[in-house]
Amino acid sequence: MKRPKILIIYTGGTIGMKTDETTGALVPFDFSGIYEEFPSLKRLKVDIEVFTIKPPIDSSNVSIENWVDIARIIRDKYESYDGFVILHGTDTMSYSASALSFMLENLAKPVIFTGSQIPIGILRTDGRENLITAIEIAGARTEEGKPLVPEVALYFQNRLFRGNRTTKFSAEALNAFASFNYHPLADVGVNIQYNTANIAPYIDNAEREFFISESLSNDVVIVKLFPGIRPATLRAMLLESGARGVVLETYGAGNAPTSEWFVDLVKEAVSRGVVVVNISQCKDGAVQMHLYETGLALQEAGVVSGHDMTVEAAATKLMYVLGKNLPLSETVELMRKPLRGEFTL
Ligand code: ASP
Repeated sequence: MKRPKILIIYTGGTIGMKTDETTGALVPFDFSGIYEEFPSLKRLKVDIEVFTIKPPIDSSNVSIENWVDIARIIRDKYESYDGFVILHGTDTMSYSASALSFMLENLAKPVIFTGSQIPIGILRTDGRENLITAIEIAGARTEEGKPLVPEVALYFQNRLFRGNRTTKFSAEALNAFASFNYHPLADVGVNIQYNTANIAPYIDNAEREFFISESLSNDVVIVKLFPGIRPATLRAMLLESGARGVVLETYGAGNAPTSEWFVDLVKEAVSRGVVVVNISQCKDGAVQMHLYETGLALQEAGVVSGHDMTVEAAATKLMYVLGKNLPLSETVELMRKPLRGEFTL
């Protein structure tokens, strides 16, 4: 079998820093010199090339334009490489992985996001292992030569997750990411144990062509409920912000106040054509609006269940779906069904 060719796309973040030997300060690491820095990479049975986004950014600055840039690079290089590793700051990596999972249509190759909590040029870095294993996963193939992970995934600290199921939950721990509602795609110990039943099925691009969706709408707001929220605040966010899509972060199994003013505001937003998606503030578990009166009121108001979606997936899915500028009924239909395994039905 031919050696897989992997493209590393370096976008910025902590992983790309190293200590300047003379000053002791953290400076950007030049990934084009990756083989000199990590000669052991040569032992991996893959060929690696590096593309650096200029300028590399702290991921807190990531924008829709950056996502489009990454998607275009993958599109332009799609035929020339067998897999892609996206090096990304951890802070918004789950947003970017979710967004890319929607933007890359009929993806049949691995796109593995990774980063690190400690810069790669620091002795105790977690970046080296994350990088090496992400490359290995991006190059992994079945006996028939098909990619083992033909989807957008996120590798961090011994676990490979579906990208749009992840959340950064720790600013401190090295295992900073979790996928509370979907089992890992792979567990990494002495061996890489692929949980093939959880991995998206392979798409034959001869039958369904790979392409990218570049148009994302940012007419989206995320509204996190809290006891005491003022009617004026909710009105501003739901009705006066110009939002076409709202991610409503409710309590528990999708519950919200039953007070008249609250329900009326939600109803008004829905009747004006705003797509309101209900997800839970609980990281683990799903919205079930029929369970309590407090959820039923939202269901009756026309709110769409976000099931067990993460806030990152819900927001970026809304951006992607609204970006298509479809009639409202079709927009709602796309929000109601999983498009990339982003929720469990
Ligand atoms: N602020 C950094 C970023 O997200 C943190 C990191 O990479 O871990 O770009």
